[in-house]
Amino acid sequence: MARDDRGVTPQSEDFSSWFNELVVRAELVDRGPARGTMVIRPYGYRMWELIQSDLDARIKETGHENAYFPLLIPESYLSREAEHVDGFAPELAVVTHAGGKPLEEPLVVRPTSETIVGEMMAKWISSHRDLPLLLNQWANVVRWEMRPRLFLRTTEFLWQEGHTAHAGEAEAMRETLTMLDAYAGLAEEIAAIPVVRGEKTPGERFAGAVRTYTIEAMMRDGKALQAGTSHYLGVNFARAFDIRYTDAADEQQLCHTTSWGMTTRMIGAVIMTHGDDKGLVLPPKVAPHQVVIVPIGRGEQGEQTVLAARELAAEVKAAGVRVRVDDRPQLSPGFKFNDWEMRGVPIRLEIGPRDLGAGSVTVVKRLGDEGKQTMPLDAVAAALPGMLDEFQQLLFDRAAEFRESRTATVDSFDDLRTAVSEGWARALHCGRPRCEEEIKAETAATPRCVPFDSPEETGACVRCSQPSAYGKRVIFGRAY
Ligand code: AMP
Repeated sequence: MARDDRGVTPQSEDFSSWFNELVVRAELVDRGPARGTMVIRPYGYRMWELIQSDLDARIKETGHENAYFPLLIPESYLSREAEHVDGFAPELAVVTHAGGKPLEEPLVVRPTSETIVGEMMAKWISSHRDLPLLLNQWANVVRWEMRPRLFLRTTEFLWQEGHTAHAGEAEAMRETLTMLDAYAGLAEEIAAIPVVRGEKTPGERFAGAVRTYTIEAMMRDGKALQAGTSHYLGVNFARAFDIRYTDAADEQQLCHTTSWGMTTRMIGAVIMTHGDDKGLVLPPKVAPHQVVIVPIGRGEQGEQTVLAARELAAEVKAAGVRVRVDDRPQLSPGFKFNDWEMRGVPIRLEIGPRDLGAGSVTVVKRLGDEGKQTMPLDAVAAALPGMLDEFQQLLFDRAAEFRESRTATVDSFDDLRTAVSEGWARALHCGRPRCEEEIKAETAATPRCVPFDSPEETGACVRCSQPSAYGKRVIFGRAY
């Protein structure tokens, strides 16, 4: 397929141009005026709302409450946790002037809120009876990214950040993993993205964390995308912000804290996991329109099909499906078909005069090998929820098969190099940061995670032959 003035570069030709052109063309986003910022348009924002509402429910079900903390944080707060400030310093945007005057203390635009939340937790927690404290906030954050990319790495992004405080390590660790599971659930059940759950190696940890856990997904170009992270922060932030409680024996103790975040990057993950040469392919659960009805015909016949489309839409809506009638008069049916294909709508219904005469409707799925199907008009609404569920499952299965076909278990560095040029490698590694860096320099691949579910195994490091660390294989891949 050649690029035309409506289409985008095919994915198979140039993945990166495909993505950059498609997100704009599909009206998900536009570039903002400040470098690395993006404007999220209604079609993209609706996807975010669908992700957000599902995740918010999971966050609340697990006992957390939403709160809101200020965007501006005194600069000195960030320096209180040494690793945290080192990690974030290069990415900070700092306000030095306000109200026409230099500020006495500069204010940082939050890159994340551990510090300000820590400060408030110290104030709110005094006894073990105040624990656990389980907070979440939905907010925007700013990180001055060197290589910004729409959705994946923008300088400002939307996210939720959870922050919790606990009486001990075991409970805080349980929390960290519970929220990783919530992310995996959202990715797999809503975004139809199979993910690997695992722990980050020390070199890839969040700045200030004791342990970082991640869900990693494979995109259709074989690269990995870190789709959500959950951190056990130990007592690092509690010590820096004096978050203490008196235990049952009246002794002062430091709290163990956690934090976890998922962002608008998830939309990028959906696009790059499911999309194809024709454009987006949206899982029904995150699709702004799950079904689009295109009435066909001119003049009086056209009026009749528009009426029929509207009646059908009412039935479809009553069946719990998000539906839209595309009755834009100035556009041809062919244009509309292409447009909704490019924008990833799972199911399209076409009603032409002949369909209407026969009491039927033409059903076209965005993916699948059945092509066009004809169904009785009065049976469509009831059939759609099941068809959408099947479509959701098809996308998940297809992505899981793709990931499996592009993941190799390797025991030599040459094989690792080959594997990561196409996808992922499962390899034994010594765990030394220096060795990780050398692998990265030579292959562009980094350790994505030590997966929870891989079997126990030891042996020689795939690169330097020193004894392996972690007791199991690590996943290596090039990453976004
Ligand atoms: P962190 O607080 O660094 O653990 O980040 C939480 C999650 O945010 C990561 O797992 C990424 O998926 C995502 N993320 C990090 N940086 C960006 C960015 N610049 N734009 C969008 N998402 C991001």
